[in-house]
Amino acid sequence: MSAQTIRSTCPYCGVGCGVLLRPTGDGGLEVKGDPDHPANRGRLCSKGSALGETLGLDDRLLTPQVHGETATWDAALDLVAGTFQRTIAEHGPDSVALYVSGQLLTEDYYVANKFAKGLIGTANIDTNSRLCMASTVAGHKRAFGTDTVPGTYEDLDEADLVVLVGSNLAWCHPVLYQRILAARASRGTKIVVIDPRRTASCDGAELHLAVAPGSDVTLFNGLLAEIAQRGLVDADFAQHVTGAEAAIVAAQATDLSVTGLSDGDLAAFYDLWCGTEKVVTIFSQGVNQSSAGTDKVNAILNCHLATGRIGKPGQGPFSVTGQPNAMGGREVGGLANMLACHLDIENADHRAAVQGFWSSPAMPEAPGLKAVDMFNAVGEGRIKALWIIHTNPAVSMPDADRVRAAIAGCDFVVVSDVTGQTDTARLAHVMLPAAAWAEKSGTVTNSDRTISRQRAALPAPGGVRPDWAIIAEVARRMGWAEGFDFSGPAEIFREYAALSGIAAGFGRDFDISGLAGLSETEYDALAPVRWPVTAQDAGGRFFGDGRFFTPDGRARMIPVSHRAPVSVPKTKVGSALGASAGTLSRDSPAGCRGAGPWPRRARHGRDRSRAGDPACARHR
Ligand code: SF4
Repeated sequence: MSAQTIRSTCPYCGVGCGVLLRPTGDGGLEVKGDPDHPANRGRLCSKGSALGETLGLDDRLLTPQVHGETATWDAALDLVAGTFQRTIAEHGPDSVALYVSGQLLTEDYYVANKFAKGLIGTANIDTNSRLCMASTVAGHKRAFGTDTVPGTYEDLDEADLVVLVGSNLAWCHPVLYQRILAARASRGTKIVVIDPRRTASCDGAELHLAVAPGSDVTLFNGLLAEIAQRGLVDADFAQHVTGAEAAIVAAQATDLSVTGLSDGDLAAFYDLWCGTEKVVTIFSQGVNQSSAGTDKVNAILNCHLATGRIGKPGQGPFSVTGQPNAMGGREVGGLANMLACHLDIENADHRAAVQGFWSSPAMPEAPGLKAVDMFNAVGEGRIKALWIIHTNPAVSMPDADRVRAAIAGCDFVVVSDVTGQTDTARLAHVMLPAAAWAEKSGTVTNSDRTISRQRAALPAPGGVRPDWAIIAEVARRMGWAEGFDFSGPAEIFREYAALSGIAAGFGRDFDISGLAGLSETEYDALAPVRWPVTAQDAGGRFFGDGRFFTPDGRARMIPVSHRAPVSVPKTKVGSALGASAGTLSRDSPAGCRGAGPWPRRARHGRDRSRAGDPACARHR
């Protein structure tokens, strides 16, 4: 590796592939896969390979803008801080909100979360990752007590059967799909795709089950009933699980005709799943983005818990994330109903611990407004100052026209982004120019809990600043200098890691306290590392030992039953997300597919982000 080559992470999707970046000297970058990164071992898909095409200054926002006029940073930041302060003084802390993004680095996320919950005292901070991942978060918490991904990417190499549910992995997480195909070639791994559509992922599959939209709960309830009927419930693991009897009773009441599948297809799937010990069930937006998303997640988890096929090599349920740092956002408290490090906002002890750690002047006592509710509140005038960071809700939220109108009617809107040319930025009173992916430094977490460094490979152009620095500067102007006196991302990361050690004291899973003492040099050189990272533990699987994060330490199987998809008028969903089926079930393309294997604006036209964060605007 030449001295000029910089190790970083692909900012497109949640696979989190390592990249080697070499500046070409004319503002561009040569991009190669990092052979030493555990997520991709040198592989890149067409999106990662084309990262160099996302660079350039066309349409970049290079200076702050106030009411459409170029402004100094001082003037813009004073206006933001003063308006937020005045709004809070007149209407209370819950009259302001932040809507952030899975494009943020973890350090940016941490500072944004501390700003909202620790300084302002509102939980009105939510992330566009909610649209992709909230069902999984809720499903994990119901079953495990925490939002924990049990397995690792190595499980894909070791599985004998991989089931893709609501996931077009071949397009949306191509390097993972290649990894499974490699396992197929070397050990005969079988692939089953469960999706109403025939997708590219079906090309390598033994079986494609074209289920009726929204019938996943039924399909997996049928599997659970089959597991019970065949006597495959793991008696040893059962001591670590509660709720099995009720879940199985609910499963046995299932009407399999709802799936629309033939008896032969159902039998083939159930034979494969029941007959294969090493099975990984991957699920993605087709499961998450549904009116019954959480039940779908738990229907899948139930089958793995019943058989004890979880947290062991080649076995487990596996949620794969869309955005590059969706996982980081979940860990750092980017959701309106969470505190940092998987602590719960509704738990008084957790709140007190975080407030004490931060020495913060305020702390919300209840969850804030989640994404849809937040924009409803904006439209109703209850949110009077709104800060939107690296996301384009005027396009990407469901019912986008209504969201656009709400933002347009808000008293004060701030947008931080790499470009002022998004539909949302055009509605802002203040635009703040933020660093793009190749210019910023921090960490991201991928789908298998691996924390990787994203390193700046290019100088920030013009007056752009990193997001953490912008937010910290506003916080200082609002009067909490000591809480936001960060010298850089390494110091933010250390604080975050130290807080995770406190969270672990409450029995939380997320613990990276082993990284709390990193020096600047060590942080700079940090190699990819999977959490937990403690003095005793590093990066393994969860739950194979039967220990869960519930009060009694046992997993919970949840009785679930079929609910028909909630129909949403096509005009509401379609305008925002390109749905064709008129429902919010997976099974319409409303399911966020991640950025497809197209390098540049070919798919989503002008809404595609350009110079900076390269994930498509719809995905954001
Ligand atoms: S887009 Fe995803 S799969 Fe492709 S190189 Fe980037 S991180 Fe890897």
